[in-house]
Amino acid sequence: MSLKIASGRGPEADSQVQEEPPSREAILAWLREEEDSRLDALWQRADAVRRAHVGDAVHLRGLIEISNYCIRQCGYCGLRAGHRDLERYRMSAGEILSCAHQARQFGYGTVVLQSGEDYGMAAEWLADVVRQIKAETGLAVTLSLGERPEPDLSRWRVAGADRYLLRFETSDPELYRLIHPSQPSRPSDRLAILRTLRELGYEVGSGIMVGIPGQGWDSLVSDLETFRALDLDMIGVGPYISHPATPLGSGEWTRALPMGQQVPNTERMVYKTVALTRLVCPEANIPRTTALATINREYGRELGLMRGANVVMPNLTPIAYREKYEIYPGKACINETAQACQMCLRHRVEAIGRHVGAGPGGRHRGGAGR
Ligand code: SAM
Ligand code: SF4
Repeated sequence: MSLKIASGRGPEADSQVQEEPPSREAILAWLREEEDSRLDALWQRADAVRRAHVGDAVHLRGLIEISNYCIRQCGYCGLRAGHRDLERYRMSAGEILSCAHQARQFGYGTVVLQSGEDYGMAAEWLADVVRQIKAETGLAVTLSLGERPEPDLSRWRVAGADRYLLRFETSDPELYRLIHPSQPSRPSDRLAILRTLRELGYEVGSGIMVGIPGQGWDSLVSDLETFRALDLDMIGVGPYISHPATPLGSGEWTRALPMGQQVPNTERMVYKTVALTRLVCPEANIPRTTALATINREYGRELGLMRGANVVMPNLTPIAYREKYEIYPGKACINETAQACQMCLRHRVEAIGRHVGAGPGGRHRGGAGR
Protein backbone atom coordinates (compact mmCIF):
# COMPACT_ATOMS: atom_id res chain seq x y z
CA MET A 1 0.00 0.00 0.00
CA SER A 2 1.35 3.41 -0.83
CA LEU A 3 0.42 5.70 1.98
CA LYS A 4 0.51 9.39 1.16
CA ILE A 5 0.73 11.59 4.15
CA ALA A 6 -0.03 15.28 4.26
CA SER A 7 3.11 17.37 4.52
CA GLY A 8 2.33 19.39 7.60
CA ARG A 9 3.00 22.60 5.68
CA GLY A 10 0.80 24.49 8.04
CA PRO A 11 -2.87 25.17 8.55
CA GLU A 12 -3.31 26.42 4.97
CA ALA A 13 -2.08 23.21 3.36
CA ASP A 14 -4.20 20.49 4.93
CA SER A 15 -5.36 19.14 1.61
CA GLN A 16 -1.85 18.49 0.32
CA VAL A 17 -0.42 15.01 0.67
CA GLN A 18 3.35 14.68 0.68
CA GLU A 19 5.87 13.14 3.03
CA GLU A 20 8.04 16.23 3.38
CA PRO A 21 8.77 17.33 6.92
CA PRO A 22 7.15 20.64 7.80
CA SER A 23 9.11 23.83 7.17
CA ARG A 24 10.08 26.24 9.95
CA GLU A 25 7.22 28.56 8.97
CA ALA A 26 4.72 25.69 8.98
CA ILE A 27 5.88 24.50 12.40
CA LEU A 28 5.43 28.00 13.79
CA ALA A 29 1.97 28.34 12.21
CA TRP A 30 0.86 25.02 13.71
CA LEU A 31 2.23 25.90 17.14
CA ARG A 32 0.20 29.12 17.10
CA GLU A 33 -2.96 27.56 15.64
CA GLU A 34 -5.92 27.64 18.05
CA GLU A 35 -8.86 26.59 15.88
CA ASP A 36 -10.10 23.12 16.97
CA SER A 37 -11.22 22.00 13.52
CA ARG A 38 -7.84 22.87 12.01
CA LEU A 39 -5.96 21.22 14.81
CA ASP A 40 -7.96 18.06 14.13
CA ALA A 41 -6.10 17.89 10.82
CA LEU A 42 -2.77 18.03 12.69
CA TRP A 43 -3.81 15.27 15.11
CA GLN A 44 -4.93 13.06 12.22
CA ARG A 45 -1.78 13.66 10.26
CA ALA A 46 0.45 12.85 13.23
CA ASP A 47 -1.55 9.69 13.90
CA ALA A 48 -1.25 8.58 10.26
CA VAL A 49 2.51 9.19 10.22
CA ARG A 50 2.85 7.32 13.52
CA ARG A 51 0.92 4.34 12.13
CA ALA A 52 2.91 4.29 8.86
CA HIS A 53 6.32 4.46 10.51
CA VAL A 54 6.10 2.76 13.90
CA GLY A 55 2.80 0.90 13.70
CA ASP A 56 0.02 0.35 16.23
CA ALA A 57 2.14 -1.24 18.95
CA VAL A 58 2.54 0.74 22.16
CA HIS A 59 5.79 -0.17 23.89
CA LEU A 60 5.83 -0.25 27.68
CA ARG A 61 9.07 0.66 29.42
CA GLY A 62 9.17 0.05 33.16
CA LEU A 63 10.49 3.16 34.91
CA ILE A 64 12.62 2.68 38.04
CA GLU A 65 13.57 5.92 39.82
CA ILE A 66 16.73 4.57 41.42
CA SER A 67 18.00 7.65 43.31
CA ASN A 68 16.88 11.21 43.98
CA TYR A 69 20.33 12.51 44.97
CA CYS A 70 21.57 15.15 42.53
CA ILE A 71 24.55 17.51 42.38
CA ARG A 72 22.91 19.84 39.83
CA GLN A 73 20.97 23.03 40.47
CA CYS A 74 18.48 22.99 37.58
CA GLY A 75 16.12 25.89 38.16
CA TYR A 76 13.00 23.86 37.35
CA CYS A 77 13.49 20.55 39.14
CA GLY A 78 12.48 19.51 42.64
CA LEU A 79 15.47 17.12 42.88
CA ARG A 80 18.02 19.97 42.57
CA ALA A 81 20.79 19.89 45.18
CA GLY A 82 19.54 23.17 46.67
CA HIS A 83 16.18 21.63 47.66
CA ARG A 84 17.31 20.83 51.16
CA ASP A 85 13.89 19.80 52.52
CA LEU A 86 13.69 16.80 50.20
CA GLU A 87 14.44 13.49 51.89
CA ARG A 88 16.94 11.63 49.72
CA TYR A 89 17.10 7.91 48.89
CA ARG A 90 19.17 5.56 46.78
CA MET A 91 17.85 2.08 45.93
CA SER A 92 19.98 -0.98 46.61
CA ALA A 93 21.09 -3.28 43.78
CA GLY A 94 18.70 -5.94 45.13
CA GLU A 95 15.75 -3.54 45.04
CA ILE A 96 16.53 -2.51 41.46
CA LEU A 97 16.88 -6.15 40.39
CA SER A 98 13.57 -7.03 41.95
CA CYS A 99 11.83 -4.22 40.01
CA ALA A 100 13.46 -5.48 36.80
CA HIS A 101 12.09 -8.98 37.46
CA GLN A 102 8.66 -7.45 37.98
CA ALA A 103 9.00 -5.68 34.59
CA ARG A 104 9.70 -9.02 32.98
CA GLN A 105 6.68 -10.63 34.67
CA PHE A 106 4.46 -7.82 33.39
CA GLY A 107 5.74 -8.42 29.84
CA TYR A 108 7.63 -5.12 29.48
CA GLY A 109 10.55 -5.22 27.02
CA THR A 110 12.64 -2.50 28.65
CA VAL A 111 13.53 -1.06 32.02
CA VAL A 112 14.51 2.58 32.36
CA LEU A 113 16.84 3.39 35.27
CA GLN A 114 16.46 7.07 36.09
CA SER A 115 18.03 9.27 38.79
CA GLY A 116 19.49 12.62 39.62
CA GLU A 117 23.16 13.09 38.75
CA ASP A 118 24.29 11.02 41.69
CA TYR A 119 28.00 10.31 42.07
CA GLY A 120 27.17 8.30 45.17
CA MET A 121 26.35 5.63 42.59
CA ALA A 122 29.80 4.52 41.50
CA ALA A 123 30.12 3.76 37.80
CA GLU A 124 31.30 0.19 38.42
CA TRP A 125 28.46 -0.50 40.87
CA LEU A 126 25.92 0.61 38.26
CA ALA A 127 27.71 -1.42 35.56
CA ASP A 128 27.25 -4.49 37.78
CA VAL A 129 23.55 -3.73 38.17
CA VAL A 130 23.19 -3.44 34.37
CA ARG A 131 25.05 -6.73 33.84
CA GLN A 132 22.79 -8.49 36.33
CA ILE A 133 19.60 -7.12 34.79
CA LYS A 134 20.74 -8.27 31.35
CA ALA A 135 21.82 -11.69 32.56
CA GLU A 136 18.76 -12.40 34.70
CA THR A 137 15.97 -10.81 32.63
CA GLY A 138 17.26 -10.23 29.09
CA LEU A 139 15.43 -6.89 29.05
CA ALA A 140 16.65 -3.85 27.14
CA VAL A 141 18.16 -1.33 29.56
CA THR A 142 17.74 2.40 29.17
CA LEU A 143 19.70 4.76 31.42
CA SER A 144 18.77 8.33 32.33
CA LEU A 145 21.34 9.32 34.92
CA GLY A 146 22.35 12.84 33.91
CA GLU A 147 25.61 14.23 32.59
CA ARG A 148 28.05 11.57 33.71
CA PRO A 149 31.61 11.66 32.30
CA GLU A 150 32.42 9.70 29.17
CA PRO A 151 34.30 6.86 30.97
CA ASP A 152 31.14 6.13 33.02
CA LEU A 153 28.91 6.19 29.93
CA SER A 154 31.35 3.93 28.15
CA ARG A 155 31.58 1.46 31.04
CA TRP A 156 27.77 1.14 31.19
CA ARG A 157 27.55 0.60 27.44
CA VAL A 158 30.14 -2.18 27.68
CA ALA A 159 28.12 -3.67 30.56
CA GLY A 160 25.17 -3.98 28.17
CA ALA A 161 23.09 -0.77 28.50
CA ASP A 162 21.23 -0.23 25.25
CA ARG A 163 19.87 3.31 25.39
CA TYR A 164 20.46 6.62 27.14
CA LEU A 165 18.01 9.48 27.71
CA LEU A 166 19.26 13.01 28.23
CA ARG A 167 16.93 15.88 27.41
CA PHE A 168 18.58 19.04 26.08
CA GLU A 169 15.52 20.81 27.60
CA THR A 170 15.75 23.84 25.28
CA SER A 171 17.87 24.61 22.23
CA ASP A 172 18.01 28.30 23.23
CA PRO A 173 21.56 28.73 24.66
CA GLU A 174 20.71 31.77 26.77
CA LEU A 175 17.64 30.16 28.31
CA TYR A 176 19.57 26.92 28.87
CA ARG A 177 22.31 28.77 30.78
CA LEU A 178 19.67 30.44 32.95
CA ILE A 179 17.71 27.33 33.87
CA HIS A 180 20.51 24.75 33.87
CA PRO A 181 23.62 26.32 35.41
CA SER A 182 26.99 24.68 34.93
CA GLN A 183 28.79 23.29 37.96
CA PRO A 184 32.16 24.98 38.56
CA SER A 185 33.95 21.73 37.82
CA ARG A 186 31.34 20.32 35.43
CA PRO A 187 30.27 22.64 32.63
CA SER A 188 27.00 21.55 31.08
CA ASP A 189 26.91 20.70 27.37
CA ARG A 190 24.14 18.18 26.83
CA LEU A 191 24.34 18.38 23.02
CA ALA A 192 27.99 17.30 23.15
CA ILE A 193 27.08 14.39 25.46
CA LEU A 194 24.36 13.29 23.04
CA ARG A 195 26.99 13.06 20.29
CA THR A 196 29.27 11.05 22.60
CA LEU A 197 26.42 8.66 23.43
CA ARG A 198 25.85 8.08 19.72
CA GLU A 199 29.57 7.34 19.20
CA LEU A 200 29.46 4.85 22.06
CA GLY A 201 26.71 2.96 20.25
CA TYR A 202 23.72 3.82 22.45
CA GLU A 203 20.27 4.44 21.06
CA VAL A 204 19.96 8.08 21.95
CA GLY A 205 16.97 9.87 23.43
CA SER A 206 16.47 13.50 24.24
CA GLY A 207 13.66 15.99 24.60
CA ILE A 208 12.36 19.24 25.97
CA MET A 209 9.89 20.86 28.32
CA VAL A 210 7.15 22.95 26.74
CA GLY A 211 6.31 26.32 28.29
CA ILE A 212 9.48 26.90 30.33
CA PRO A 213 9.30 30.49 31.67
CA GLY A 214 11.31 32.52 29.14
CA GLN A 215 10.76 30.07 26.24
CA GLY A 216 9.70 31.95 23.08
CA TRP A 217 8.00 30.60 19.95
CA ASP A 218 11.13 30.73 17.81
CA SER A 219 13.07 28.73 20.33
CA LEU A 220 10.40 26.01 20.38
CA VAL A 221 10.56 25.81 16.57
CA SER A 222 14.35 25.45 16.87
CA ASP A 223 13.86 22.65 19.41
CA LEU A 224 11.88 20.69 16.81
CA GLU A 225 14.54 21.36 14.19
CA THR A 226 17.19 20.17 16.65
CA PHE A 227 15.31 16.86 17.09
CA ARG A 228 15.64 16.33 13.36
CA ALA A 229 19.27 17.44 13.17
CA LEU A 230 20.24 15.02 15.94
CA ASP A 231 18.33 12.15 14.28
CA LEU A 232 17.11 11.08 17.72
CA ASP A 233 15.89 7.55 18.40
CA MET A 234 13.64 8.64 21.30
CA ILE A 235 12.09 12.03 21.98
CA GLY A 236 10.34 13.02 25.22
CA VAL A 237 8.15 16.12 25.16
CA GLY A 238 6.28 17.18 28.28
CA PRO A 239 4.88 20.33 29.86
CA TYR A 240 7.00 22.40 32.20
CA ILE A 241 5.25 22.11 35.58
CA SER A 242 6.07 24.76 38.14
CA HIS A 243 7.62 23.60 41.42
CA PRO A 244 7.38 26.31 44.11
CA ALA A 245 10.60 25.13 45.82
CA THR A 246 12.70 25.97 42.74
CA PRO A 247 14.05 29.33 41.49
CA LEU A 248 12.03 29.15 38.27
CA GLY A 249 8.87 28.13 40.11
CA SER A 250 9.24 30.88 42.72
CA GLY A 251 10.00 33.49 40.07
CA GLU A 252 13.46 34.18 41.52
CA TRP A 253 15.05 33.37 38.14
CA THR A 254 13.26 35.06 35.27
CA ARG A 255 13.85 36.05 31.71
CA ALA A 256 11.66 38.78 30.27
CA LEU A 257 10.19 38.16 26.83
CA PRO A 258 8.35 40.67 24.63
CA MET A 259 4.57 40.59 25.00
CA GLY A 260 2.98 37.53 23.35
CA GLN A 261 6.28 35.66 22.98
CA GLN A 262 6.01 33.28 25.97
CA VAL A 263 5.05 29.72 24.95
CA PRO A 264 2.24 28.56 27.29
CA ASN A 265 2.76 25.32 29.25
CA THR A 266 -0.74 24.12 28.41
CA GLU A 267 -1.92 20.65 27.58
CA ARG A 268 -2.82 21.72 24.07
CA MET A 269 0.66 23.16 23.44
CA VAL A 270 2.13 19.81 24.44
CA TYR A 271 -0.13 17.90 22.03
CA LYS A 272 0.83 20.26 19.22
CA THR A 273 4.52 19.76 20.00
CA VAL A 274 4.16 15.96 20.22
CA ALA A 275 2.26 15.86 16.91
CA LEU A 276 4.85 18.05 15.18
CA THR A 277 7.66 15.94 16.66
CA ARG A 278 6.09 12.92 14.94
CA LEU A 279 5.99 14.78 11.61
CA VAL A 280 9.57 15.95 11.99
CA CYS A 281 10.98 12.59 13.19
CA PRO A 282 8.58 9.93 11.86
CA GLU A 283 10.61 6.92 13.03
CA ALA A 284 11.37 8.03 16.57
CA ASN A 285 9.98 6.36 19.66
CA ILE A 286 7.94 9.08 21.35
CA PRO A 287 6.68 8.50 24.89
CA ARG A 288 3.50 9.87 26.26
CA THR A 289 5.10 11.55 29.28
CA THR A 290 4.04 11.34 32.93
CA ALA A 291 3.96 15.14 32.99
CA LEU A 292 1.21 15.04 30.35
CA ALA A 293 -0.76 12.48 32.39
CA THR A 294 -0.27 14.81 35.36
CA ILE A 295 -1.92 17.82 33.71
CA ASN A 296 -4.79 15.69 32.30
CA ARG A 297 -5.26 12.68 34.56
CA GLU A 298 -8.37 11.51 32.81
CA TYR A 299 -7.39 11.43 29.14
CA GLY A 300 -3.81 12.76 28.89
CA ARG A 301 -2.45 9.25 28.34
CA GLU A 302 -4.83 8.37 25.52
CA LEU A 303 -4.67 11.74 23.78
CA GLY A 304 -0.87 11.68 23.76
CA LEU A 305 -0.95 8.24 22.10
CA MET A 306 -3.58 9.39 19.59
CA ARG A 307 -1.54 12.45 18.59
CA GLY A 308 1.83 10.94 17.74
CA ALA A 309 3.17 9.04 20.75
CA ASN A 310 3.87 5.27 20.76
CA VAL A 311 5.58 4.58 24.10
CA VAL A 312 4.41 4.61 27.73
CA MET A 313 6.62 4.36 30.80
CA PRO A 314 4.67 2.74 33.67
CA ASN A 315 6.23 3.37 37.04
CA LEU A 316 7.86 0.42 38.83
CA THR A 317 9.49 2.42 41.63
CA PRO A 318 8.56 1.04 45.06
CA ILE A 319 5.75 3.16 46.50
CA ALA A 320 7.87 4.15 49.52
CA TYR A 321 10.26 6.07 47.22
CA ARG A 322 7.82 7.51 44.70
CA GLU A 323 6.79 10.64 46.56
CA LYS A 324 10.45 11.44 47.22
CA TYR A 325 11.10 11.53 43.47
CA GLU A 326 9.19 14.78 43.33
CA ILE A 327 10.43 16.49 40.16
CA TYR A 328 7.27 18.64 40.25
CA PRO A 329 4.24 18.57 42.56
CA GLY A 330 1.21 16.35 41.98
CA LYS A 331 2.94 13.76 39.77
CA ALA A 332 0.47 11.23 38.31
CA CYS A 333 0.34 7.60 39.55
CA ILE A 334 2.28 8.30 42.73
CA ASN A 335 0.23 5.92 44.88
CA GLU A 336 -0.63 3.20 42.38
CA THR A 337 1.13 -0.12 42.72
CA ALA A 338 3.18 -1.32 39.76
CA GLN A 339 0.54 -4.03 39.22
CA ALA A 340 -2.30 -1.48 39.12
CA CYS A 341 -0.30 0.77 36.76
CA GLN A 342 0.29 -1.99 34.24
CA MET A 343 -3.34 -3.16 34.22
CA CYS A 344 -4.65 0.39 33.86
CA LEU A 345 -2.27 1.06 30.96
CA ARG A 346 -3.13 -2.12 29.10
CA HIS A 347 -6.82 -1.22 29.28
CA ARG A 348 -6.20 2.30 28.12
CA VAL A 349 -4.06 1.13 25.18
CA GLU A 350 -6.64 -1.43 24.06
CA ALA A 351 -9.53 1.03 24.47
CA ILE A 352 -8.07 3.20 21.70
CA GLY A 353 -7.64 0.29 19.29
CA ARG A 354 -3.91 -0.22 19.82
CA HIS A 355 -1.98 -3.15 21.29
CA VAL A 356 0.91 -3.55 23.69
CA GLY A 357 4.14 -4.20 21.78
CA ALA A 358 6.25 -7.29 22.42
CA GLY A 359 10.04 -7.28 22.72
CA PRO A 360 12.42 -4.40 23.33
CA GLY A 361 10.75 -1.97 20.89
CA GLY A 362 13.93 -0.29 19.64
CA ARG A 363 13.95 2.24 16.86
CA HIS A 364 12.40 1.25 13.53
CA ARG A 365 14.47 2.32 10.58
CA GLY A 366 12.94 2.52 7.14
CA GLY A 367 9.21 2.69 7.92
CA ALA A 368 6.70 -0.19 7.98
CA GLY A 369 5.46 -0.19 11.51
CA ARG A 370 4.78 -3.39 13.39
N1 SAM B 1 18.80 13.79 36.12
C1 SAM B 1 18.52 13.29 34.83
C2 SAM B 1 18.44 14.41 33.84
O1 SAM B 1 18.34 15.57 34.23
O2 SAM B 1 18.52 14.09 32.66
C3 SAM B 1 17.25 12.47 34.76
C4 SAM B 1 16.17 12.81 35.72
S1 SAM B 1 15.37 14.40 35.40
C5 SAM B 1 14.30 14.51 36.75
C6 SAM B 1 14.32 13.94 34.03
C7 SAM B 1 13.61 15.08 33.35
O3 SAM B 1 12.61 15.62 34.21
C8 SAM B 1 14.42 16.27 32.94
O4 SAM B 1 15.13 16.03 31.76
C9 SAM B 1 13.36 17.36 32.79
O5 SAM B 1 12.98 17.54 31.43
C10 SAM B 1 12.18 16.81 33.58
N2 SAM B 1 11.74 17.79 34.58
C11 SAM B 1 12.44 18.24 35.63
N3 SAM B 1 11.75 19.21 36.28
C12 SAM B 1 10.57 19.36 35.62
C13 SAM B 1 9.45 20.22 35.78
N4 SAM B 1 9.40 21.12 36.77
N5 SAM B 1 8.43 20.11 34.90
C14 SAM B 1 8.47 19.17 33.92
N6 SAM B 1 9.52 18.36 33.71
C15 SAM B 1 10.56 18.44 34.55
FE1 SF4 C 1 19.16 16.82 38.74
FE2 SF4 C 1 18.06 15.99 36.44
FE3 SF4 C 1 16.64 17.42 38.22
FE4 SF4 C 1 18.59 18.62 36.87
S1 SF4 C 1 16.69 17.72 36.01
S2 SF4 C 1 18.21 18.79 39.10
S3 SF4 C 1 20.07 16.97 36.68
S4 SF4 C 1 17.45 15.38 38.50
